[in-house]
Amino acid sequence: ATPMSIMVSVGRAAKMGVLIKNGEAMQTASKVSCVVLDKTGTITLGRPSVTDILLGSGRDSIDSGDAIDVLIKSVASLEQHSEHPLADAMVSEAKSRKLDLFEPEAFTNYQGKGIVGVVDGQNLVVGNMELMKMQSVSNMDALEDEVISLAEMGKTPVFVALYGVLKAVIAITDPLKPDALEAITALKRSGKRVILLSGDNHKTANAVAREVGIEEVIAGVLPEQKQQHIIDLKSSGEIVAMVGDGINDAPALVSADVGIAMGDGTQVAIESADLTFLSGRLSVLADTFSLASASMRNIK
Ligand code: ADP
Ligand code: MG
Repeated sequence: ATPMSIMVSVGRAAKMGVLIKNGEAMQTASKVSCVVLDKTGTITLGRPSVTDILLGSGRDSIDSGDAIDVLIKSVASLEQHSEHPLADAMVSEAKSRKLDLFEPEAFTNYQGKGIVGVVDGQNLVVGNMELMKMQSVSNMDALEDEVISLAEMGKTPVFVALYGVLKAVIAITDPLKPDALEAITALKRSGKRVILLSGDNHKTANAVAREVGIEEVIAGVLPEQKQQHIIDLKSSGEIVAMVGDGINDAPALVSADVGIAMGDGTQVAIESADLTFLSGRLSVLADTFSLASASMRNIK
C-alpha cells in the first residue's frame, strides 16, 4: 500500500473511534479470515456483579442473614488483593453490605484460577474448579446441581473453601454489551470464522456464546494457552484477529495477525494491540474490516 492510502484509512478509522498503532495493521486487517474474541470485558461489559450466594447444601437469598455476611467479609478480605474483575465484584458486594474488611495474614494469587490465603486465622481458597482440585478441596459435589444451573445461565461460579472443605458458591454475572449479538452477526455475515476464547469454564462460556450466536468456543484456558490457540490457528492457515481487554489477553494480542484492544480495557492490552476501539463498542469490528478491505482495493 502507498503511504497516502494508508494515511487515508488511518484517518477514516479515527473517525469511527479506531486508533491505529501502525498503518500496516490495516493492510493485514483487510485479509482477516478468523476473529477470536475474549469473553469478559470484550463480549460482556466488564462490570461483573454478585447475583447469588449459595451456602452449604441450601440456597439463601442474597440479602439474608449473618452467615452470608460473615462469608462475604472473609472472601472480600482476600479478594481485595486480586486485580481480577471477579474480585472487584466480591469486594463491591462486601462494601454494599457495609462490611469492614480484614487484612489477610497471607495470600497467593493464582492467575486464571483464583486466590488462596489466611484471613482472620482461617485458611481460605476462592476460585474456579481447577483451583479447588489443585488444593484438594473436598465436598465438591455438595452444590453441584446449583452450580450447573447457574453456569447454564451464563453466570460464573466462584467456589469458596474453608480449611479444605467447600462451604459456598458465589455466582457472578457480567451483562452482555448491548451490541454484541449485532456485531457477531455482522462478522458472520461477512464470512468470517468467529471463535470465543475464554478463561472461564465451558458451561458459562458456552451459555454466553449461544446468546450472541457464536458456535465455536474454546474455554478453560490460561493466558499462555490463549496465545498458543492463536498460534495454532495461524499455522492452520487462518489470518487471525484477536479481540481482548485483559492482562491475560496480552500474549494472544501480540501473537495475532491483528490485535484489537478495547479502549476501556487494561493498559497492557492496549499496548499489546495494533488497533484500539476507543468506545469499547463491538459493532465497530465489522466496520473496521470493511474499511480495511475498501482501502486496500483502492490501492490496487
Ligand atoms: P477470563 O478469560 O474469564 O478473563 P481468567 O483467565 O482471568 O479468565 O480467569 C479464569 C477463571 O479463573 C475465572 O473465570 C474465575 O473462575 C477464576 N478466577 C481468576 N481469578 C480469580 C479470583 N481472583 N477470584 C476468583 N476466581 C478467579
Ligand atoms: Mg477479558
